Amino acid sequence: VESPYVALSSSDSSGMVWELDDDDNISYFIKKLRVWCRQPRGQWELGTIQSTSGEEASISLSNGNVIKVVRSEILPANPGVLEGVDDLIKLGYLNEPSVLHNLKLRYSQGMIYNKAGPILIALNPFKDLQTNGNDYVSAYRQRIIDSLHVYAVADVAYNKMIRDEVNQSIIISGESGSGKTETAKIALQHLAALGGGGSCAIENEFLQINRILEAFGNAKTSRNNNSSRFGKLIEVHFSSMGKICGAKIKTLLLEKSRVVQLANGERSYHIFYQLCAGSSSDLKERLNLRAVCEYKYLVQSDCTSIDDADDAKNFPQLKKALDTVQICKEDQEMIFKMLAAILWLGNISFQVDSENHIEVVDDEAVTSTAQLMGCSSQELMTALCSHKIQSDEDTIAKNLTLRQAIERRDAIAKFIYASLFDWLVEQVNKSLEVGKQYTGKSISILDIYGFQTFQKNSFEQFYINYANERIQQHFNRHLFKLEQEDYELDGVDWTKVDFEDNEVCLDLFEKKPHGLLSLLDEESNLAKASDLTFANKLKHHLNANPCFKGEKGRAFRVRHYAGEVLYDTNGFLEKNRDMLSSDSIQFLSSCNCELLQLFSKMFNQSQMQSVATKFKVQLFMLMHQLESTTPHFIRCIKPNTKQLPGIFDEVLVLQQLRCCEVLEVVRVSRAGYPTRMAHQEFSRRYGFLLSEANVLQDPLSISVAVLQKFNIPSEMYHVGYTKLYLRAGQIDSLENKRKQV
Ligand code: ATP
Ligand code: MG
Repeated sequence: VESPYVALSSSDSSGMVWELDDDDNISYFIKKLRVWCRQPRGQWELGTIQSTSGEEASISLSNGNVIKVVRSEILPANPGVLEGVDDLIKLGYLNEPSVLHNLKLRYSQGMIYNKAGPILIALNPFKDLQTNGNDYVSAYRQRIIDSLHVYAVADVAYNKMIRDEVNQSIIISGESGSGKTETAKIALQHLAALGGGGSCAIENEFLQINRILEAFGNAKTSRNNNSSRFGKLIEVHFSSMGKICGAKIKTLLLEKSRVVQLANGERSYHIFYQLCAGSSSDLKERLNLRAVCEYKYLVQSDCTSIDDADDAKNFPQLKKALDTVQICKEDQEMIFKMLAAILWLGNISFQVDSENHIEVVDDEAVTSTAQLMGCSSQELMTALCSHKIQSDEDTIAKNLTLRQAIERRDAIAKFIYASLFDWLVEQVNKSLEVGKQYTGKSISILDIYGFQTFQKNSFEQFYINYANERIQQHFNRHLFKLEQEDYELDGVDWTKVDFEDNEVCLDLFEKKPHGLLSLLDEESNLAKASDLTFANKLKHHLNANPCFKGEKGRAFRVRHYAGEVLYDTNGFLEKNRDMLSSDSIQFLSSCNCELLQLFSKMFNQSQMQSVATKFKVQLFMLMHQLESTTPHFIRCIKPNTKQLPGIFDEVLVLQQLRCCEVLEVVRVSRAGYPTRMAHQEFSRRYGFLLSEANVLQDPLSISVAVLQKFNIPSEMYHVGYTKLYLRAGQIDSLENKRKQV
């Protein structure tokens, strides 16, 4: 394809000079040029310049209308031959309307995958495209289907792992509802096909594990009917022969407030609805289970069902999945018991007597909960409304206030659920235990909760968005910083591409002693502190940071890479402390229930850290692990907020492209050398292609000799001090030569 730059570098017969500057802006008008012109509502229309006068041009649109547009509202469009290219790197003009048009065109034809230089952009189709599954794995491997696929990313990672003997990672990011979890499943499926040795057992096992994780860790939110409420890293282990020999799942903080608190239009974790709708009458009887509408925790929100999801049908499938990971029937029964206990706990209510003492209403909720947890009704009621104080001689029981009692009830419910989730992940990991031939090579797939902003944003959004900020930094480091530093260090003549560094925002969170996380911990440790004093403290210390803005009352704003978010500190301190009173722990350990005893033991062993600190430690370990891998990035994009197929909301897509800096990534890789190899490595891999390979020659000379022998044009590579830099596509031809030998 001829570059449009060349075509535009001369003058036309009228003598009018027309030029484009570096940023694809039109400095001079050109007759008959295809252009994008911005419409009053912000959208872009394609047209052709008919005539110009001063700062204005008459443009004829495809619908026949002719409109007048000022120069600043016009951008050049790509020629027809560049319509719908699969890699944005191929676009002559890399302006926003051109990129949008390209993605939209392909999306309308069912092509949801696009390359943007080194990253894969995946547009959520919101419908089954039938491009996954076994037939497609083999079709893909025979190159019958479009090579642009999550499969291709998994393939590259797998081959690189084998070739370079370096761990790989597939990092999937994007907003809530953009398709990360689905994409992660597709990547995992392909890895299973590549490393499963032709058997479907591993593939099936991965499928079942995802079913379990989603039942217990996903829920309907206003953004996504199947939103992940935890972060996960799946590490797939391979033998030296490239066969899968185990896997390990690492999770990041589950959102546990959802168990006791729901916003309208949202649901609690899928498993609760599946259990109520799908359990057999026997099980229902043993757990004294009722319909969803009878449980207060579930009916706080107006939403109890999801279109297209059959909770009743999903339950037996979940049980099968638990069988697959070898969770025995007795343990399954215990899991269901804990879930039912949580639901009944939520139905327990309190009343205040004439002397202003609170007591538990002794009803079916109490008897059911006590029975399921393995204690007496009396023990449960005491644990819920009194507080033991140890004095010198004996213990005195003090009555809790109504608010404290409700908090205690909810804290127990949250604790049981979160412990159950962690325990389940542990069981799943046991069933995936690393095989003997594990050589230490792995491919990790990262899928965490996406960046979120709601009307009201609380502690959960706070840590979720913080995690996304870290992942964005990882992305920036690899695609901009390291890349460009590498060029400079190695003497490559290079014009720097600017990118939005999010260091300042991360600083806002992590700086000691005056960052958001440290200040939150500091305030959480003060007995007299409140959400308001916390908000004031933030305003006092952080106002100088450009990413921070104090707001009225308890609110503050953070300028994240993906947009500004208004947080309400209401509940921050309590959620961060996440205290479970020693009374409650003692009570749980006294119950005649194996799981509750185990959970309370685990709690006693864990250090008393705040949630923010624990989260930061988990996140750092995760990022540290990823740092030692070769990353492959997939950016998921949500084409509309209605979760419907066929709708491409340009403004929404553009906003996501902007915040992940897709255009900048393409600029860097278009101008750069995506393949780089140390001379030593290059000469070792391709040196044998030289007929008279001189073993005495140094690696750099061998590299140059290889390039010359295969007539690689000089503009296609750069010989650095330590490495060889190659333009896109060059390594493929050398690999082909290598295979032919
Ligand atoms: P969150 O951050 O909330 O967890 P997410 O990015 O993980 O969101 P997904 O749950 O993967 O989003 O996707 C949301 C929904 O979009 C899916 O339930 C599914 O209906 C649809 N979807 C996503 N990707 C695909 C795909 N490749 N093919 C078909 N449907 C898809
Ligand atoms: Mg998800």
